[in-house]
Amino acid sequence: MAEVLARVREIKLFIDGHYRASSENKTFEVYNPATQELIANVHEATKEDVDRACQAARRAFEEGPWRTMTVKERCAKVRRMAEIIMERREELARLEALDVGKPFSVAYEFEIPRAAHNLSFFADFIEHHPSEMYPMEEEFLNYTRYEPVGVAALITPWNLPFMLTTWKLGPCLATGNTAVIKPAEPTPLTVSLLGEIAKEAGIPDGVVNVVQGFGPNSTGEFMTTHPEVDLISFTGETSTGKAIMKNGADTLKRVSFELGGKAANIVFEDADLDKAIPTSIRAAFLNSGQVCLAGSRILVQRSIFDEFVDRFAAAARQLKVGDPQDSNTNMGPLVSKEHYEKVTSYLQIAESEHSTLICGGKRPELTEYLKDGYYLEPTVFVQEDPHARICQEEIFGPIVTLIPFDTEEEALQIANSTQYGLNGVVWTDNLQRAHRVASKVRAGTIWVNCWFVRDLRVPFGGFKKSGIGREGGHHSLEFFTEAKTICLAL
Ligand code: NAD
Repeated sequence: MAEVLARVREIKLFIDGHYRASSENKTFEVYNPATQELIANVHEATKEDVDRACQAARRAFEEGPWRTMTVKERCAKVRRMAEIIMERREELARLEALDVGKPFSVAYEFEIPRAAHNLSFFADFIEHHPSEMYPMEEEFLNYTRYEPVGVAALITPWNLPFMLTTWKLGPCLATGNTAVIKPAEPTPLTVSLLGEIAKEAGIPDGVVNVVQGFGPNSTGEFMTTHPEVDLISFTGETSTGKAIMKNGADTLKRVSFELGGKAANIVFEDADLDKAIPTSIRAAFLNSGQVCLAGSRILVQRSIFDEFVDRFAAAARQLKVGDPQDSNTNMGPLVSKEHYEKVTSYLQIAESEHSTLICGGKRPELTEYLKDGYYLEPTVFVQEDPHARICQEEIFGPIVTLIPFDTEEEALQIANSTQYGLNGVVWTDNLQRAHRVASKVRAGTIWVNCWFVRDLRVPFGGFKKSGIGREGGHHSLEFFTEAKTICLAL
């Protein structure tokens, strides 16, 4: 594995079953966020390259055999992709840690197996999915077929590149569509391998294409405006979702958006703090807080506020910040210079808003070779005003804000006061309150006395500005298929 990490790799585009250079030989550089060392030169897909990828995907869709083969055969190939991913688990986890900066152990234990599961789960789900049939007395019979839509653009963010891309690719492929994938520009490594993994699994050329590049006036925009793209599944920032929607409007593309979040993690005075604190620490600092579902606003009932602050800060100080490739590391750096600057700008914003710094707020002391990494200590603020910017805006870093509240009603008002509605968390031992609060928080997923657990059949997505549509189980199937009704006279 040392070899995987040591070399500066050249990352090409994967189009129509083959690696190809950028048509204009345009490349961009990717750096290790833990050290600022160069790790890859990446070929940027030009308009011509995107066109080639979309045309290849169109041909693979129209001419088959992908769309026309039996569901059983198609799903077996998707399942084979999952097996190959598990065979390459360590390499993929090393690479995910290398460009994202996340701990190798998290990628190895959780994200790469979950990526494999995304594919095998949807292969199983689609293969066993029933159809509807409605007989009308003795005279007519109605039934429904779910047919693939066509060419899908799958555009993903840098925080969980492999896991989120496979979450889209699984249902896209199992239902018979073809794909043009674009990972985020700072984190191309693992997703760049999906084309060759698909090919090795026996998936025909042109079905899975991977292009690399930026968003506006670059690869992403070329994809979302391309006439051969029928549907766009996008995960990323709310502002990017708006741009994509505008760009896709002229060609009337179907969109599914998973966007930003600013979850309220509400801790009532009857909560079991021995469980709430470690899980809230994970919810705040997993992946250096670069998780859309992060519990970045912790609302704590005033009667237990001081105790919670002390215990939470003590646990935050215990987190081991360091080299992502070291198995003992709990928290790595932020993903890039640009993102580091954005996240650390909130330290000044917090100060100007009279937030109280409880712990963190500076670079941790690390060994020499990590001195240039984009590191920030786990940082905890207390803020009384829930409308302060650090309580409203998605910081997407290891900065969490603790906000006191007195009553359930007040907690709900604060929880629902942002533009986001992706998820929420409730800690209480009172069953009635758990259901009551869960029903009143306006968000797509509410965890009660837990976080980040989900059966893949349930709907996943956001209220308000956190998204459009739902992914998971039959919700993904509906997005990636056209439902056709056939009515037959008997
Ligand atoms: P981003 O929106 O900047 O970029 C996401 C992807 O979109 C990248 O591949 C980027 O190159 C591309 N892109 C940017 N502009 C584009 C354009 N005009 N046209 C087409 N493509 C374009 O997001 P990010 O910074 O990579 O990721 C962080 C964001 O993602 C956060 O807001 C986070 O909450 C969100 N996120 C949401 C979920 C979810 O499930 N709701 C999951 C993970 C991350």
